[in-house]
Amino acid sequence: MQIMEPAVYEAFHCIGGDCTDTCCAAWEVVVDPESAEKYRQAGGAIGERLRAVMEQDGEDTVFRLQNGRCPFLNQENLCDLYIELGEASLCATCTKYPRFTHVYGGVTERGLSLSCPEAARLLLNPTEPMTFVTHTEEGFPEPNALNPTLYFSLRKVRAAVFEMLQNRTLPLEERARRLCAAGEAVQKTINRRHYAQIDSIGRKCLQADAQTVSLPELPEKQLDFLTETLPRHLKTLLPEDTPGALLASCPEAAVMLEHFLVYGVYRYWMEAAYDRQLLPKVRLCVRLYRLAASLAAQRVREESGLSKEELRKIISLCCKEIEHCSENLEIFSAVR
Ligand code: SF4
Repeated sequence: MQIMEPAVYEAFHCIGGDCTDTCCAAWEVVVDPESAEKYRQAGGAIGERLRAVMEQDGEDTVFRLQNGRCPFLNQENLCDLYIELGEASLCATCTKYPRFTHVYGGVTERGLSLSCPEAARLLLNPTEPMTFVTHTEEGFPEPNALNPTLYFSLRKVRAAVFEMLQNRTLPLEERARRLCAAGEAVQKTINRRHYAQIDSIGRKCLQADAQTVSLPELPEKQLDFLTETLPRHLKTLLPEDTPGALLASCPEAAVMLEHFLVYGVYRYWMEAAYDRQLLPKVRLCVRLYRLAASLAAQRVREESGLSKEELRKIISLCCKEIEHCSENLEIFSAVR
């Protein structure tokens, strides 16, 4: 099996009690059936606690939150389950997060979600371009229905997209426009099933001036919110809070936002090899970038400045609210 992952992937470790925005609050923990069964059989006081907080939410078994926090998150922001029963006792949700995995036959792509502050620090802090590494691991390719020409063409163009997004001689807004132009052109080529032409058509768009291409607007539809922070900021967002305004007043923000675009393309682009819907994924990446950049512009206007830490928090917040909610993801992926 070939494995691809961001170069910093292996460096990730949960920082537990030192985390500034723990994933053990606000979200309900969905417990996989195997862990739920194990928890039902657990003995002692921890077993009683487990049985007291597990409940059904539709088809899912979840831990009922207490004051918006996981019932096992203690005062020191540490996990009582981990302390009492060890790491192996954690359910799949807690074991995996913030890691994500996409399997394409013999290739597995892994990544870290930027909604986790520690993952965001590792992925967004470096000033040099984000890089990815590959290695092989034992295992068999998953049976799949991928079209090989479509898969390899999309992979080639994605490599060219990374190169374009990391070309710092181009203004970041121009890079975002070229990404949109390539997304439109490649989608049309996919629709015509001319898979062998995807690479050349995509590359042509990535090299061409895209000043006349317009970026997708932020959605006006009502979003589902996990926290009060994003709706509060959105209420006071002004039309002049734009990525252009941010980059004019705070050019150093471009590096972190470049990483954010590269992260989005890495995470979503190749899924089009399965559903042939590339354009919605490109729209999602660009809208996420625009949302974070607009909120950062608002921050600069209101506070006359923006630290790296603040921009990183804004990007994490956008990911937390949009990427982990299927309804919000759909709204942000809309083609129109
Ligand atoms: S958000 Fe990340 S660092 Fe924080 S508790 Fe969760 S996994 Fe650990």
